[in-house]
Amino acid sequence: MENFHDQEGWIWCDGKLRKWNEVQLHVLSHGLHYASCVFEGERVYGGTVFKLREHSQRLIESARMLGFEIPYTVEEIDRATIETAKAMKCVDGYVRPVAWRGSEQMGVSAQKTKVHLAIAVWDWPSYFSPEARERGIKLTMSKWKRPSPETEPVKAKASGLYMICTLSKEAAEKAGFDDALMLDWRGQVAECTGANVLLVMNGEIHTPTPDCFLDGITRRAVIGLAKGRGIKVIERAVWPDDLKKADEVFVTGTAAEVTPIGQIDDLHFQVGPITRKLRDDFEKLVRQPAKQTAKVG
Ligand code: PMP
Repeated sequence: MENFHDQEGWIWCDGKLRKWNEVQLHVLSHGLHYASCVFEGERVYGGTVFKLREHSQRLIESARMLGFEIPYTVEEIDRATIETAKAMKCVDGYVRPVAWRGSEQMGVSAQKTKVHLAIAVWDWPSYFSPEARERGIKLTMSKWKRPSPETEPVKAKASGLYMICTLSKEAAEKAGFDDALMLDWRGQVAECTGANVLLVMNGEIHTPTPDCFLDGITRRAVIGLAKGRGIKVIERAVWPDDLKKADEVFVTGTAAEVTPIGQIDDLHFQVGPITRKLRDDFEKLVRQPAKQTAKVG
């Protein structure tokens, strides 16, 4: 897409489908000025939204963590998502629900604002290029750190928390990398700018405990797949030195799916057997109708 505003199609906004290019928010919206805005990223696989209920629930909880209530139930958000995907005739694509505080009040405190919800769906096949996914993505360390839970509602998927992700990813791209790996405020390995990170060490999976960043829905699904294969999964504090001892490293995320890491600055990694297995298992999982998924067509 050349841009995201001037398109044909439909976006569900505040209770009904509206023409894509007519959905607008006012420039004096609280969400824009003070980051009272939460969102989700979901994928449609073969006409089914993967883990739709989990995503809709996380959206509601993210808003609560920011102190506002989305005026729809989880069932209503699920239904609206399916309605939008249907209207867009989406078979394989991406879903972006976003909720924000409106323009009834301007200032840091905005308890009288109306809360809006919009859901857009579009075709968006791959986050990293197919070559990067095959050889493994190249990462560099970010200079920005994931903040402590005492400084931000770190578990919310809140737009304000993405400022450091955008800065990190753009710096990485300018230096010739695909993405950045972020440490947390303690110096422990945290996550990438839009995906979680997992290490394979001696046949086991080690992954940072998600105590100051998003506990990804894909991460949880992949941990389940690994356990199903009898692979031990250890959530713990992971330090940058652990990366030197890893046999394989990969990321998980709705957009990134399961993507191997080929390089982190001076460290190089092979795309190994466990990453490949889990990538294949994940591809199968997303195409099989499960309890948590909902059919679009
Ligand atoms: N961390 C960040 C910062 C992200 O943006 C994402 C993508 N939503 C993830 C992790 C992975 O989360 P999920 O698997 O739920 O998409």
